[in-house]
Amino acid sequence: MRPISREVLARNEAAKLAAAELPDGACTRRGRLWSVLERAHRRASTPEEAAQVVAAAREEFCAGCPALMACHRLAEVGTYTGLAAGAAYENGERQKDTWTAPKAGRQRKTRPKAAAPTTERTTSRQVDRRAS
Ligand code: SF4
Repeated sequence: MRPISREVLARNEAAKLAAAELPDGACTRRGRLWSVLERAHRRASTPEEAAQVVAAAREEFCAGCPALMACHRLAEVGTYTGLAAGAAYENGERQKDTWTAPKAGRQRKTRPKAAAPTTERTTSRQVDRRAS
């Protein structure tokens, strides 16, 4: 987790409390390298590439980090998307190592929304005609 992640993650009050209790992690004061990993993960276009970046982050930083569990909780509570606690997260959900982040300009396939129920409105003019 890069140093600014505490603020990024702390989107709600629960996350702010969790962030306040987060001890310094192995990535603290190594934000530049962490940012390189985050960027590489966002840009990974294949599952293998994404898994390599997650493995690098885990090995270089998270495996022996004293903040690992707190970092995981903060990622969940803060609905974080990115690398944290030796894994990739999307909206606070831990993903498989092979998960690739959605790319800007590309949309995820989503289920089509159910058609909104149509309601016919009766205008006041129609009401007037029926009354007469
Ligand atoms: S678990 Fe990883 S991302 Fe979280 S604070 Fe530790 S080194 Fe940083």
